[in-house]
Amino acid sequence: MRKFFSFIGLVAFILLIIIVIKAVTITPWPHQKADALIALPDSAISHFSKAVQIATISPEDTTHIDSIHFNAFRNFLEQSYPLIHQKLNRTIVAGYSYVFEWKGTDTTLQPIILMGHYDVVPVEESAVKLWTAKPFGGEVKDSAIWGRGSIDDKSSVIPILEATENLLKQGYTPKRTVLLCFGHNEESTGTGAMAIVRYLKSKKVRAQMVVDEGGEISTDKIKGVKRPVAFIGVAEKGYLTMELSVEKKGGHSSIPDNETAIDILTKALFKLRKQHMPDTFTPTVEEFLDRTSGSSTDFLNKMALSNRWLFGGVVKKIMSESAEGAAMLHTTIVPTIVESGVRENVVPTNAKAIVNSRVLTGETTKDVIDFITKTIDDNRVKIKISGDFNTEPSAATPFTSDAFKRIETAVYKIEDDVIPVPFLMLGATDSRVYREISDGVVNFTPVVDSKGYHGIDERLPIKDYQKAISFYTLILKEAQK
Ligand SMILES: [Zn+2]
Repeated sequence: MRKFFSFIGLVAFILLIIIVIKAVTITPWPHQKADALIALPDSAISHFSKAVQIATISPEDTTHIDSIHFNAFRNFLEQSYPLIHQKLNRTIVAGYSYVFEWKGTDTTLQPIILMGHYDVVPVEESAVKLWTAKPFGGEVKDSAIWGRGSIDDKSSVIPILEATENLLKQGYTPKRTVLLCFGHNEESTGTGAMAIVRYLKSKKVRAQMVVDEGGEISTDKIKGVKRPVAFIGVAEKGYLTMELSVEKKGGHSSIPDNETAIDILTKALFKLRKQHMPDTFTPTVEEFLDRTSGSSTDFLNKMALSNRWLFGGVVKKIMSESAEGAAMLHTTIVPTIVESGVRENVVPTNAKAIVNSRVLTGETTKDVIDFITKTIDDNRVKIKISGDFNTEPSAATPFTSDAFKRIETAVYKIEDDVIPVPFLMLGATDSRVYREISDGVVNFTPVVDSKGYHGIDERLPIKDYQKAISFYTLILKEAQK
């Protein structure tokens, strides 16, 4: 018996040595120095300010588009970017979405697509007083340009245009054809992007790379990592909306049954929220952890991260502390609408809930339906698919692909000491439909710790604006190799 314990002790000791060695020898991601950013082109700031002042609010109902503002934006583009309108071929689709074609000298090469959307979400009436600048003022103060859309997503659209106009001014002609694609309703239905993709498909376009809004450069998102991390989106989660409904005879609220339709539905929702689908390290998350763990300054953290074969459960637990971390690890399921009842003294006959799910890579919408059915385990709750946007999770753009490598190269040149990491997009963007015409979709917005996205005091620091123009200039030049 003593022999047995000394054997166990020896195994534990060896294991400890291996764990510590792995943690000590894991090297930080290479350090590097960025290039100088390119100087802001003349009028770049006034262009951006004007773009924000035009309230291109996404129409909830696409037939009710505010044509005054959308036409004003078209005029703004024509006046601010004369060379683009002279030298590139503009196609208008779905009324207000645009494709600008910059023909390359070698048409045998697959084109690259730089894209974004210029519609914005509205500002709630009650939130206006909480802003410290006018939501559509385009004010320049504290070294930033303020207003709705200054991040989402005019911070992609305008820098792409500035970079292109500037290169045209320098007489630059790309080898590979460049397509600039701008949707006008990403924040509502996304039909503009769909129409663009239909148009490109009709032209038999297959793009080598598509760059859309997405992850950012962040300096404080990962515990223990003090270096800037560039989150480059390579895959999107799937999307599924379900309706759960219960029908049970109601009646007078003075003599309620032991269990009502509301009770049955509530119990079902409670069960659904109490557990979740399994946590998984997808290849994207594995790579993300591999790239960042060596740069963690917290030794215990580093030890767990570099020994995931043993501490995988601990790492999952740490990641799950934040909602974003948890959403990277599993399929999320959450009720978003609950409806029942008409009068305070009537027990309702119907109770209904809408449940929204974002499906992890490697799982399917069918897996989610099976999970919901099994978890609720009550056939009085009727479950059916609802909504028009249901999609399976996307394939992932490999981090060894040219598209990913080009983003990496450009990121190194605009940010000192940055760690570029692949990242799973948690929300859906316009580029999801572009996966039909490209295997190289990447989601990245070259801004640092953005503020006010969809909220109050949205603003783009001028330094980030300069970074974004430099980034797209590099992409336009790099992608020609
Ligand atoms: Zn957006």
